[in-house]
Parts: sequence; C-alpha cells; structure tokens
Amino acid sequence: MSRPAIAQIDVSALKHNISLVRHHAPHSKIVSVVKANAYGHGAAMVAQAIADSTDMMTVSCIEEASVLREVGIQCGILLLEGVFSTEELALAAALDLELVVHEVEQISQLARCDLAFQFAVWLKIDTGMHRLGIQPEQTAECFEQLASFKCVKSVCLMSHFSCADMPESSQTEGQIAELKKQSTRLKQQGHDSVQISMANSAAILQWPQAHFNWVRPGIILYGISPFMFEHQCDGALKPVMTLKSKVIGLRQVQQGKSVGYGATWIAPRHSVIATVAIGYGDGYPRNAKSGTPVLINGKRAKLAGRVSMDLIGVDVSDLQNQVRIGDDVELWGANLNVNEVAKWADTIGYELVTRMPARVPRISVNS
Ligand SMILES: *Cc1c(COP(=O)(O)O)cnc(C)c1O
Repeated sequence: MSRPAIAQIDVSALKHNISLVRHHAPHSKIVSVVKANAYGHGAAMVAQAIADSTDMMTVSCIEEASVLREVGIQCGILLLEGVFSTEELALAAALDLELVVHEVEQISQLARCDLAFQFAVWLKIDTGMHRLGIQPEQTAECFEQLASFKCVKSVCLMSHFSCADMPESSQTEGQIAELKKQSTRLKQQGHDSVQISMANSAAILQWPQAHFNWVRPGIILYGISPFMFEHQCDGALKPVMTLKSKVIGLRQVQQGKSVGYGATWIAPRHSVIATVAIGYGDGYPRNAKSGTPVLINGKRAKLAGRVSMDLIGVDVSDLQNQVRIGDDVELWGANLNVNEVAKWADTIGYELVTRMPARVPRISVNS
C-alpha cells in the first residue's frame, strides 16, 4: 500500500456549486477563478470539469494560463494582474488571453505594443480595497486611451471588494456606488455598452446589487463558504476537496504521559491514541491546536499534541473499541467543514486548501 494521504476531488460537487452560482446570479456571466492551482484542488482537473458550465476562467499568471490551454481549455482566460512585463504581452497573445490593467504603467506597455493580436482589457478601478487598480477619477481618461489602441479589442470595468463577507459593513455599498458613478460617466460619454465585473463569492451570495455583467466566483466553486460564521445562503454548497488518510498506529497512553513533539499534550486519563498518516508535509496545518476535530470512521475525535511532518496523534479514547489500524480518517471535506478546522489553526478555509502541497495526490471522484 502506498502512502494513504490523499485529497479526493469531487467533480460532481464542483458542477453542483457552479450551478448554484448560476442560480444566485442568473443574469450574469461567470468567470471561474482557478488561480493557485484551482485553490489547491488541481487546475487541470477542475478546469476540465467546469469547462462546459463556465463562460470564462481566470488565473494569476501566464504559467497558470498555459496549464489550462495545455489541457484543451478553449474559453476566454483572464490574467488577474495582467502582465508583469512587456515581454509577456507576446506570450499572452500566443495563448489568447485577456488582460487586467490595474496600473498606468500597463497602459504604457500596451501603447508600445506592436502585436497584430487584439486584447480584451479589464480596467481595474480601486474603489476602496487600496491594493490594485487605478484611481476612480482616472477611469474615463484610461478607458479612452486603452480604447484607442490598435492592440485593444474591448475595455470593461472591474473592481474588487474588501469586505463583501461582512454584511454589517458599509464599505461594499460605497464601492458599488463608486464603480457605478464611473460607468455612468462613461455611458454619458457615449460608451453605453460598457460591461462591469465586481462580485467575488461573498458578493455573489450576499450582494445581488453587485452582480452586474460578470461574476467572479472562487471559493464557492470549491464548496467552501466565504463567511466564517454560519450563514443561511451557503448551506447548499458541496465541499469539493476531502483530505483523507488512515490510522497506521494505535497505542495506550497512561494518565500523565505525553504525546508528540515537545510533550505538549498530557493524557488526562488512561487514553487510546490513534496515529494518522497526515502532517504538515501534507498541508495539514502545524499550528492546529490540540482539540482540533478529526473524523475517524466518520466519528469525531480530537487532535492530541503537535502536528508532525508526516503524522498526527488523535485521542480516540471515547471510540476505543471501534478504531483499528487501516481505518479511514477525514481531516476536512465532505463531512467536516474546512472552515471549522481552519478556525482551530487561526486561519481560513481558503488557506488550508490553497497550500495543499504537490505531495498529496488529487484523486477525482464522482459522488
Ligand atoms: C481571487 C479573486 C476572486 C475570487 O474570490 P473568492 O473570494 O474566492 O470568490 C475574485 N476576484 C479577484 C480579483 C480575485 O483575485
């Protein structure tokens, strides 16, 4: 038997989640976000599974786009940060990519571009995130400039929310109002068909007034809620990644004896510890605290002691007569919400799935 740590990727869950996006934003087209190896799920597998259900895909760099083209993805592919150098324009053209333009410098690069190719450009406006994007007041000028270039086929407007997962925040409404103001100005100047894209996953679920022409779902495609608190409209999501392994060791530990590096967990009673073949080398977070839930044969047990590179200890004292070597373990996924595990490691589900290392095989299943 080879190492039992695997990430199951449920292809039918992906298809379910994208149909949920359609249901929430019926009048918008979908740009599926498959950056960072499809949030760690495996970009080639994910892209092929959703190719028929999405209108476009988006990634963070040429290398990620090229993986998609290599496996036969033919839809539009958007580079979320555009190109990082002038030389990349030729590569982007060769791969038939669309470009975000978020800096004036990128407009100059296009001004000097003498390729025969014509790019669809997504002009990114900084409406309040203060991370990327041109200033709102520069919108009309940048738009006109871009639209005048021979190598530019079309220009649409996009922006990104900083607080769409916080329903109590007024930030989102302010950002929507700012982008609307700029698009209204463009329309008054005769660009009446200018398209808009703002909504990430949280806005798709929470802010219908932000859907506009194109929505950009990321985390919800993977069946993970963008909200860290319980939320009424995310219950229908189906987790795509299930991180699994097996019990490979079992021992009795006397009261007062310790488990793991640093001897941080001390048996409060005579205990049974199951050792599971998963560790931080497999993307299980090292800072998950003792007490983090782990499913063994579908039943909850608690992480005991520090996470090692390849192994964890789990206190199965309350399941003791049921646990055997070779038993199935779920670290997160279909039956254990990754956001719950993430909370125990002081992070969010996004990070846990995205940093899943190449060592863990992604195995596709159809539930
Ligand atoms: C990553 C990203 C998204 C997707 O965000 P989710 O919260 O995962 O839905 C959307 N838009 C931009 C610009 C992004 O970088």
